[in-house]
Amino acid sequence: MKKLAVIGHPVRHSLSPLIHNYWIAQHGFEGRYDAIDLTAAELQQKFGDLIGHGYTGMNVTIPHKIAVMDLCDELDDSAQKIGAVNTISVSGDGRVKGRNTDAFGFIANIKAQKPDVDFAAGKAVVLGAGGATRAVVYGLLQEGVREIIVTNRTKSKAGEIAEYFGVDVADWDERNDALENAALLVNATSLGMDGQHALEIDLEKLPQHALVADIVYKPLMTDLLQKAQDRDHDIVSGLGMLLHQARPAFEEWFGVMPDVDAELQQKIESEAG
Ligand code: NAP
Repeated sequence: MKKLAVIGHPVRHSLSPLIHNYWIAQHGFEGRYDAIDLTAAELQQKFGDLIGHGYTGMNVTIPHKIAVMDLCDELDDSAQKIGAVNTISVSGDGRVKGRNTDAFGFIANIKAQKPDVDFAAGKAVVLGAGGATRAVVYGLLQEGVREIIVTNRTKSKAGEIAEYFGVDVADWDERNDALENAALLVNATSLGMDGQHALEIDLEKLPQHALVADIVYKPLMTDLLQKAQDRDHDIVSGLGMLLHQARPAFEEWFGVMPDVDAELQQKIESEAG
């Protein structure tokens, strides 16, 4: 019986147990995926305890994605470049390996919703400079996007990301103008999410062929996506990123890359909504 878990604080609303237990049952594997609440003060001690109790895989969520890096023996390129870990696997000899599957999830979700997407089509504008933005920028660079502009309310944070990844930065107040000639617009801020402020943006200068993606998934149809759809842009909603980021973790633990099928999609949509 494989023991797996998501660790975070708070963690009880995490959708990861539903996703992984669905795949465990679908594939007939012997395994159990739990949600375990650990505070920052408990992380180091309890992380070790969980491994001692036979947990061989974990997902890591807020607020531990950065702190857990120090508890890993090995970090892959995604974890190092994004600067955060969301997936842990423990090998037979006890070595703890950390990686980050958010970039995979972001890109795989776009490809699933828009199979004809051409990432080399032109400039990408990314709104935000939090943890999610680092994953988005890493993913876009891996797909060969040649020009990326990051814009964020706190410009210094956008500047750090731009310098680290070698991309460009625009002032938040000039975000509408930055859309000129863009082929892709991504909202990686928390704006537009239920309970958060609205995302104020004017899509007038965004070329008609541009794709608009939102990684906020609550609501599924954000104001940004609605506004983009009303202007006949292709749109990509954010919930699939959550589903797709789980796939490489499951593959690492069970050796099978699972699919996001219609039944799982529906379960998650009703749970998230
Ligand atoms: P974060 O680190 O807290 O970053 C939040 C971002 O939103 C920052 O860039 C912040 O700007 C910006 N922001 C917040 N309030 C703002 C306001 N009033 N005006 C302008 N900008 C504002 O969060 P994160 O981890 O990057 O996540 C961002 C969003 O993505 C969240 O809604 C999260 O749920 C979602 N997400 C979705 C997935 C998925 O699987 N679909 C995965 C990861 C994250 P400042 O830097 O100026 O504060």
